[in-house]
Amino acid sequence: MSRLAEIVSLTPVDGTFTYVVPSDLDVEVGMRVVVPFGRRNVMGVVVEHSDGDATELKAIGSVLDERSTLSNELLELTQWIAAYYICSWGDVLSATLPKGLIWTSKAQNGTAVGIKTARHLRLAEGIKVDAVLAELRGEKQKALIDILATSGRVPQTEALQLSGASSSTAKGLIEKGLVEAQEIEVERMSDGMSVQVDPPKKVELHPAQTAALEAISGAVQSESQTTFLLHGVTGSGKTEVYIRALKQTLEKGKTAIVLVPEIALTPQAVRRFRAHFGNKVSVLHSRMSAGARFDAWRAIRDGRYPIVIGPRSAVLAPLENIGLIIVDEEHETSYKQFDPAPRYHARDVAVMRAHKNGAVCVLGSATPSLESMANAQAEKYTLLRMPKRVPVKGHEAAPLPSVRVVNLAREKEIKRLKGALSDELRDAIRARLERAEQIILLQNRRGYAPVLTCEECGHTPECPNCAVSLTVHKPKRQLRCHYCGRTQRLPTSCSVCDSSELALLGIGTQRIEEEIGDVFPKARVLRMDYDTTSRKGAHRKILDAFGRGEADILLGTQMVAKGLDFPKVTLVGVVNADTGMLMPDFRAAEHAFQLLAQVAGRAGRHDLPGEVILQTRNPDHPAIKFALLHDYEGFVEHELKDRQLLGYPPFGRLVGIEFKGSENGAVRRLAELWTDELEKDVEGAAAILGPTPAFVGRVKQQWRYHTLLKAPSSVPASSLARFVRATIDRAGAPKKGNRINVDVDPVGLF
Ligand code: ADP
Ligand code: ZN
Ligand code: ZN
Repeated sequence: MSRLAEIVSLTPVDGTFTYVVPSDLDVEVGMRVVVPFGRRNVMGVVVEHSDGDATELKAIGSVLDERSTLSNELLELTQWIAAYYICSWGDVLSATLPKGLIWTSKAQNGTAVGIKTARHLRLAEGIKVDAVLAELRGEKQKALIDILATSGRVPQTEALQLSGASSSTAKGLIEKGLVEAQEIEVERMSDGMSVQVDPPKKVELHPAQTAALEAISGAVQSESQTTFLLHGVTGSGKTEVYIRALKQTLEKGKTAIVLVPEIALTPQAVRRFRAHFGNKVSVLHSRMSAGARFDAWRAIRDGRYPIVIGPRSAVLAPLENIGLIIVDEEHETSYKQFDPAPRYHARDVAVMRAHKNGAVCVLGSATPSLESMANAQAEKYTLLRMPKRVPVKGHEAAPLPSVRVVNLAREKEIKRLKGALSDELRDAIRARLERAEQIILLQNRRGYAPVLTCEECGHTPECPNCAVSLTVHKPKRQLRCHYCGRTQRLPTSCSVCDSSELALLGIGTQRIEEEIGDVFPKARVLRMDYDTTSRKGAHRKILDAFGRGEADILLGTQMVAKGLDFPKVTLVGVVNADTGMLMPDFRAAEHAFQLLAQVAGRAGRHDLPGEVILQTRNPDHPAIKFALLHDYEGFVEHELKDRQLLGYPPFGRLVGIEFKGSENGAVRRLAELWTDELEKDVEGAAAILGPTPAFVGRVKQQWRYHTLLKAPSSVPASSLARFVRATIDRAGAPKKGNRINVDVDPVGLF
């Protein structure tokens, strides 16, 4: 009998592998090791010990840790994710660990990121400070000794700055044996973490907040696992409730995770948490430098930060003893990972992680996802409601803004439409400009009038790689593909019929900016879209400038809809509510409603009453009809009926299978054969749709086909996973150049 270990390799290869533990190595579950794997060496993580026959087994090459890097809890959670989302456990571990902890044979020293150290100074052991100070003549020397005497160990740069001494002064003291220098590990901070924040506002909770907090804190105190769905309109004070619940969690000696949809879009929220919890908060996200992420990750694992805030991947933070997980804006689709695997939904993983830890989970939103609403209706989640905005400065709660619809089709018919902005919207803008109030305009489309069409033959230039229309980008006089980034010169004539009658179809943010310039030449406009926010920090600058009143109109894509709070905004105009609403996706109506509700929530948040104008060619669409009345419940009821009728989530389960490759015929055949195999495994227990060419048939030179597995909720997720895995096993890996991606609970249907 020999000592053996079960190891998960950090590769897409499924399963665990047994290795012999050499007698001179100490390995524990959760440690990182290097093992021979096929013909190469790869990193693996030990997940189990065993004893057995070592014949024909390979041995672990080396151990990378002195103690476990991954806790048992994270190992169990990642194993669950792999099983549920049909990917390898190694893929999930790769997503969990920061780059600096992932060994590869190619990188120098195994990993590309190292520990950062800084030179620190301290007094040599046993020296008598008073005697030394009496003896020394240099003032700078004395000052430096003084600082080290009071502060202990100090980074050299700091000590020199405080004392005014130079590095040669320090060197002299070190040579005299009075001071010692040491290289000590320091934590690299991500941008913004070192920024000072204002102390928090002191507020007294209003009754709806108190009721919500009491429910949550009851569960936190009694450690009874509960998932709450906190449905609170924008500005109802949800963040304040989160903060109090977090306080109680820390007081109980527990830790917490706060998930936010995207860090760049939520600077205000992150600042508020930091104002309350200061250096107890760590931020973890993928845009941090590899070094900062590596440092933050290890600091969290070592228990230095009891609160972790971050997008999606923060749900995998290496915290122990978790008491509370909060998912803010739980309906946001950015919580779903698409590429690469694991294609997990961070909200659902949060619910599962809380459940496994006996922790409390709070899902908050002004427009909860239909999945979460259905879970609340089924009493799997406890529904908490905060239907009113927080009263401001002793006033009544600011009422929700009034909403009007402008029917663009009718405007066109009576020939009143002169551009993208109807007369009604223009009048409303004019009134705000006269009163020096502010305006937000949403146009969910970027670029200059995106699509070019030939008025003669109707031809629209398409991207040869992606089979989507190219959009016009005026400043550079280019046509651009928004999928693969390909650009070409703006043509002056049609490539099919040679006509020079080329017109612009559809209207982007830049075109609206021009129209505003023509109609309201004095209005100051800030445009916020992908093109104006691509530089780091640009997003924040635009919002700050608008907040300081340096512009009258903030015009932009859906970025302007999220979480902003500007007291002087009294008008929100949606230039074309139809963009997005008519996409071939069963969630299009839900997403359109959520966007309209979100952007409407930006108007009249304080003393001044707000108004919303929605321009549409489909005034009878449910997303419009219910948004008009702020009737979220009505929309949910209507939409859930539709979903039930069609067997879509939350009443059914979906697994999307994507086939990709550079040769169209080969990918189509792969999709067909594979789908036939799947049919055999499923044996009628679920519907199989497809394969069909993807909605966007070709991206980055890759042809794409889809097959959709659709089953009633009564078929357990584990059965669907079993069908798909059986097919994967039998069909084997696709030929080189082709790929198969499995997406469980897909959002955004292709
Ligand atoms: P939400 O997260 O639901 O959008 P917030 O927690 O951000 O709402 O609250 C909206 C605004 O009201 C914030 O400026 C917040 O500081 C303030 N606020 C929240 N609760 C109260 C309260 N009980 N009394 C006074 N102001 C409050
Ligand atoms: Zn033409
Ligand atoms: Zn393209």
